[in-house]
Amino acid sequence: MHDDIPQDNAQAAWSLETLAIRAGHDRGPEQEHAEPIFPTSSFVYGSAAEAARKFNGDEPGNIYSRFTNPTVQTFEKRLAAMEGGERCVATSSGMSAILCTALALLSAGDEIVASRSLFGSTVSLLDKYLARFGIVTRYVELADLDAWEAAITPATRLLFAETPSNPLAEVADIAALADMARRHDAWLAIDNCFLTPVLQRPLELGADIVIHSATKYLDGQGRAVGGAVVGGHDLLEGVFGAVRTAGPCMSPFNAWIFTKGLETLGLRMRAQCENARQLAVWLADHSAVASVHYTGLENHPQHALAARQQAGFGAVLGFTVKGGQQGAWQVVDATQLISITGNLGDVKSTITHPASTTHGKLSDEQKAAAGITPGLLRVSVGLEAPADIRADLARGLDALI
Ligand SMILES: *Cc1c(COP(=O)(O)O)cnc(C)c1O
Repeated sequence: MHDDIPQDNAQAAWSLETLAIRAGHDRGPEQEHAEPIFPTSSFVYGSAAEAARKFNGDEPGNIYSRFTNPTVQTFEKRLAAMEGGERCVATSSGMSAILCTALALLSAGDEIVASRSLFGSTVSLLDKYLARFGIVTRYVELADLDAWEAAITPATRLLFAETPSNPLAEVADIAALADMARRHDAWLAIDNCFLTPVLQRPLELGADIVIHSATKYLDGQGRAVGGAVVGGHDLLEGVFGAVRTAGPCMSPFNAWIFTKGLETLGLRMRAQCENARQLAVWLADHSAVASVHYTGLENHPQHALAARQQAGFGAVLGFTVKGGQQGAWQVVDATQLISITGNLGDVKSTITHPASTTHGKLSDEQKAAAGITPGLLRVSVGLEAPADIRADLARGLDALI
């Protein structure tokens, strides 16, 4: 690791494409070309005095891989640079990234205001676990700024949103939420899993914290579970403390996979967005499809906001088929190529029936309130040829006409 100043200065001018490939692994004398893996639990020193300096924090360096590990640091530096954050802390999963953010920022009696359409395990974490420790979450419609404002109380410390939402692709105005958070002395955290820094950089729009499930697009090839939190030094020092104390750190092997994943993230995202756009246009025209939820379509209610706030429309789309659950299941069961799974963000296209899987635990009323209708399907569009993805869905859809 060569943390010399000239390299950092050069990095400040690099574009996202370059940072994705070069950040966190500086050029030095006789350096490994590929990022090395350090599969070690701990680190040793040349003397008692050196050990003391490292443990006291008088000298930077690694002590134990629950705290820091060079391979994990490479991933952290690269993702921080791509998100435009001062610091990143990697975690064992997206969920532990959210948990450790809460551990770092919140105390009993504090409140969270969150979008209703959050990832299911996030809702469970907030309602089943954080609630037991006296942290209350109030849910609001993601796109309704007045509802956010109305839900804030003097105890509110954190606004938490996932935008665009899954699977209905609603969009929150991040700059407006950041402004609201500042006025109420709260922080804004954005789960940026669906767009990644390639398509959306919440910190530049005023958010305080960005959260990732690296499991999805950052890896992009379904190989590892991991997460990350990105933001300013002060907040991230707290998150780092929570991770190193509670222990959900990222393994060096997984960090290496995610680091290599970041190198192709831009190319993958742009290609997957284009495949998704083509599929959305085709689906919108199919007579067995009642509606398509994709911010890239001009008739999407928040198309203009998405176009302004995002550098692309993402590669996950929802669509409702005629014939309710039976029709939806027929389309799923007619596929031969697309993976039937709840996962997303992979180069392999995936299809999900939310009402019976990811949102299956919700009551019928909750499903109706969340817009999870029986005929709704979600496709995470991968890198297969668009014509093959279309043909795979056409088999089931044509049978419904
Ligand atoms: C998958 C996901 C998570 C949780 O991440 P894990 O890596 O599975 O723990 C959080 N938020 C969103 C939006 C996700 O899609």
